Amino acid sequence: MKALVYTAPNETQLRELPMPELVPGEVVLKIEAVGICGSDMHAWHGHDPRRKPGLVLGHEFVGSVAQSAAPGFDLGRRFTGNPLITCGTCEFCVQGRNNLCANRTMVGMTRAGAFAEYMSIPAASLIAMPQDLPARAAALTEPAATAWHAIHLVLRVLVRPIHECRVLVIGGGAIGMLSALLLRHLGAAEVVLAELNALRRDAVARYASAKVVDPRETPPAEAAFDVVIDAVGAKPTRDQAIAAVKPGGVVMHVGLQDWASEIDMRRLTLAEITLLGTYTYTTADLRATVAALARGVFGDLAWVEERALDEGQKAFVDLDRGLCAAAKVLLRP
Ligand SMILES: [Zn+2]
Ligand SMILES: [Zn+2]
Repeated sequence: MKALVYTAPNETQLRELPMPELVPGEVVLKIEAVGICGSDMHAWHGHDPRRKPGLVLGHEFVGSVAQSAAPGFDLGRRFTGNPLITCGTCEFCVQGRNNLCANRTMVGMTRAGAFAEYMSIPAASLIAMPQDLPARAAALTEPAATAWHAIHLVLRVLVRPIHECRVLVIGGGAIGMLSALLLRHLGAAEVVLAELNALRRDAVARYASAKVVDPRETPPAEAAFDVVIDAVGAKPTRDQAIAAVKPGGVVMHVGLQDWASEIDMRRLTLAEITLLGTYTYTTADLRATVAALARGVFGDLAWVEERALDEGQKAFVDLDRGLCAAAKVLLRP
């Protein structure tokens, strides 16, 4: 089978690999479409010690069963999957918070990912997909579920309904874009999105009908937003988020571009700001997101770009150089 292998920092190669071995309890999916995630970009840059050269990356996939060693998973049925392979028995798994599983491993990190014609995955990780949902929607399940989980954590702690809230989203990548779309759907009073890349700003303005700003020219007003979603997660955006949120407001930290920086604990304390972190999604979030995508909650997704897997290396380079207006590029094997 053809696979796009991460071979060295800033390099992938299209290679011929043996078919994945079918092991008991797993199925081999024929991959239909797979998204390039920010974390794949991070690995491609050589910045993720857990993802080493020689690995097939990719964890935002949709495919159909090509071989099955698990009962009840018929050939040809379509699935996405939870890329976090979880134990099902730890404290967090039994609470239904399996995104926090103490024993988790991950597709495209600790095992071969989906930038390939075929990929094997435990049947227990699969999530059924409507047979007729377009591939571009189906392959967006994972990033959309990340936004879904984050925004539902925010909704849980809001003092006033989202309909009354002004929301600032920092970052117009896939998570920022999907968050803006979901917030519009939920009826947020106002959504402003700050993004440095002009191509991305145009896409967000067009498809998420959010007000977009270049934060270098128009820094977000201070103490002006009930909710701030930081979908970048770097020192300057964290500072911006803490400054922009109203007293009593909520800051949600979704992106994680760099790890360590001081935050203004004085403002956090005196202005009684709630600072939340979020990590991925639970299986319940993934299922809810499939249903939401099928209902059109995230719109027509015309902003998503599709390319051939053979052109994968160029897609990584274009994303790296900021040449993609699309906040999400899907590869089609
Ligand atoms: Zn992802
Ligand atoms: Zn667990």
